[in-house]
Amino acid sequence: MSDLTKLRQALTIEAKHQYPNLKGNQAHFADFVAGELLKVLKAMPEAERRPVVPIKAAFDRYPTLSAPERADVVGALQALLPTLQEKLEKKAKPEPGKEADWRDRPVQFVKGIGPRMAQTLTKVNVHTVDDLLRYYPRQHLDFQKRVRIGQLQAGGHVTIWGTIKKVEAYNPPSRPNMSILTVWVTDGTGTISARWFGKKSNKFQLDKQKERFPLGQSLLLSGEPKVDSFSGRIVFDRPETEILGDTEGAEGASLNVGRIVPIYPLTDGLNLKNLRKAMRVALDMYLPLMRDPLPALIRESQKLIGLKKAVEHIHFPQGPQELAEARKRLVFDELFWLQLGLAYRRSQVKQKTEALVLPTAGNLIQRFKQLLPFQLTGAQERVFMEIQADLAANNPMNRLVQGDVGSGKTVVAFLSLLVAVENGYQGALMVPTEILAEQHFAKIQGWVEELGLKAALLLGKQSKKEREATYRAVEAGHIHIVVGTHALIQDKVTFQNLGLVVIDEQHRFGVKQRATLRSKGRQPEVLYMTATPIPRTLALTMHGDLDVSVIDELPPGRKPIETKWARGKREREDVWQLVEEQILAGRQAYVVYPLIEESEKLDVKAATEAYEWLQSEKFPQFEIGLLHGQMSSDEKDAVMEAFRTHKLHMLVATTVIEVGVDVPNSSVMVIENAERFGLAQLHQLRGRVGRGGYQSYCFLLSDSKSDQTKQRLSIMQATNDGFVVAEQDLALRGPGEFLGTRQSGLPDLVLANLVEDTELLELARHTALRLVSADPNLDHYPMLKADLFRYFHANLSFLEVG
Ligand code: ADP
Ligand code: MG
Repeated sequence: MSDLTKLRQALTIEAKHQYPNLKGNQAHFADFVAGELLKVLKAMPEAERRPVVPIKAAFDRYPTLSAPERADVVGALQALLPTLQEKLEKKAKPEPGKEADWRDRPVQFVKGIGPRMAQTLTKVNVHTVDDLLRYYPRQHLDFQKRVRIGQLQAGGHVTIWGTIKKVEAYNPPSRPNMSILTVWVTDGTGTISARWFGKKSNKFQLDKQKERFPLGQSLLLSGEPKVDSFSGRIVFDRPETEILGDTEGAEGASLNVGRIVPIYPLTDGLNLKNLRKAMRVALDMYLPLMRDPLPALIRESQKLIGLKKAVEHIHFPQGPQELAEARKRLVFDELFWLQLGLAYRRSQVKQKTEALVLPTAGNLIQRFKQLLPFQLTGAQERVFMEIQADLAANNPMNRLVQGDVGSGKTVVAFLSLLVAVENGYQGALMVPTEILAEQHFAKIQGWVEELGLKAALLLGKQSKKEREATYRAVEAGHIHIVVGTHALIQDKVTFQNLGLVVIDEQHRFGVKQRATLRSKGRQPEVLYMTATPIPRTLALTMHGDLDVSVIDELPPGRKPIETKWARGKREREDVWQLVEEQILAGRQAYVVYPLIEESEKLDVKAATEAYEWLQSEKFPQFEIGLLHGQMSSDEKDAVMEAFRTHKLHMLVATTVIEVGVDVPNSSVMVIENAERFGLAQLHQLRGRVGRGGYQSYCFLLSDSKSDQTKQRLSIMQATNDGFVVAEQDLALRGPGEFLGTRQSGLPDLVLANLVEDTELLELARHTALRLVSADPNLDHYPMLKADLFRYFHANLSFLEVG
């Protein structure tokens, strides 16, 4: 683990290219570095991690940094490398008694783990004793519930094991471009074969394949047995396998580990039997030293078993009941640490950060409400009241407004900005795209003028002269409200006195930027808004440190959008016919093409071809526009403006229109290759129509026959509710994709499953909140606090506020 060479090289190359955050084979530069630093941190004793932590945090934020800031960060890490190297080398030789905490001891401290095995274990990110104890089994085999080969039937997912009797690998003469590897396994009741088809291989390669399955060893096979059409016998095609070792197989009970046996995820050079033995030894050596940081009161009230017992039984349970109890305790712990971290952070922010006090005083708000052509919905009023309370209070606002697409967040944002203006401060509205910034600005501009205020628009694409004029006006305090992309905070914009920043579509910025923003000069209040409805479990995990307000009501008169999945030629024809009818009735339509490849060029090609077909063949009588990411800002503006002012009937676009575009006259959304979009994205796109009180339609075009497509598109047809869509999306995709922890700056969840463990999550959250509200600095729980900081070690900057 003393190999910093790659890291050093990456830094050099990035610097040579002027800090573009280069994309390598696997990851972007910053992600690679952050990942490497996490490994380094894990391999270092706790006391020495301090200097690395802020640098790791800086690399997490790297994409948001300016080039000179990036240069600083890269330079800082380069300067630190020699020290790191030294520490890691020292670390490789264990120094008995040196470490303050047994958990940080290198795995070589476990009897039976030599340098070679320790080296192998680093491949699965196990460096310390603690890492080892947390290397949980992937599954357990219950020897008493064993399925015998003689009883196997086709269908269902089963796991069996037996002794390897024979292995063959060859290129079949009838199919010269293929190779077949077959393994026969027996358990005394019968023999079964498993096979894998591959590319034609030479003798050396074939031998290599065979070597993976040594005769006489026992082998675990996991998969779906099926009847081979040729021989009529039951076989496994491409099952998962695991070499169990040489003594097991038929007599698993001889394993001095009880009847339930842990199966660990393995890697090249890591042998299940040795790992299991090492685990047994590690538990025997270290469990006696383990202390349970969870206060007994909590443990008892939640009916959780003690930590020692839980760790013992997650590896070596006597039965399913013990395993379940162990899992419950450890899942609770994971969720509890996370929630405690979030709650603690929130309480620290409240205590430590200076806050502006912005009461709603004059009559600006009243005047604005009278200007509006509509009444605020009950939900808008309620959420605005919550925001007003935050702004007036003596501690900083920490609020996220969630509202489904079209629920009217912009008005709420503007109202909040007016509160700042009323108090003599400036307000800023930050949005993710230039199109959106311009749209917001256009909308706000009218209001602002009638109120006798001044607003400005700040975009990266503006001329230097134009921008500098705005900078000066902002600095002099002549501008009350500024709308812009993130250029707005990154550039050298100096506000005279910024009071509030509203960040719209905040998920687009990444949660990390919250910290960046807060560290920007004198602290303005910050309000986050998002249209990506996320299920409660995720909200609690990602935004547990935020107060959440939900605009759970749409403006009156909205008709549910009719959503239909259209397949094949006939149905497509029907779609185009309805598009035509709608346009003739005075409405407008969108046709959207997905991001197909990483190359934007190809997407542009698909959209361009469709545009040409629609304009010259299908609908020559209509005015059709084309919008994609490779157009210049001016071109995009012109098209968007033409669509907004109804000079265009139809807009063909790549996903550039996904977020926030608001043209209430449009009533049809046609999405091509709908199977390529995530559910959340489909819902966002659908939200572009149905904004003007007209019956609106969303057509999902897809000829894909996969089950997943069927499930996803059916959900879209069944509901218009963004929260339901999000819940289902989470259930289908799993939380991993949904919740990039790397993004959020939070530790990973290993055992906990955010879909299944919702009850435990609520419990953990409740417990954490109660604890922190009774004891905001956790002074009465020193052990708990120490372990909390340990758990967040790589993300200390997350906990250490102000
Ligand atoms: P969001 O950003 O939440 O998706 P917008 O703020 O863009 O939604 O609002 C969608 C549309 O609804 C806009 O045209 C807006 O003017 C309109 N709108 C907002 N609030 C109301 C309301 N209370 N009554 C009627 N229309 C509203
Ligand atoms: Mg919006």
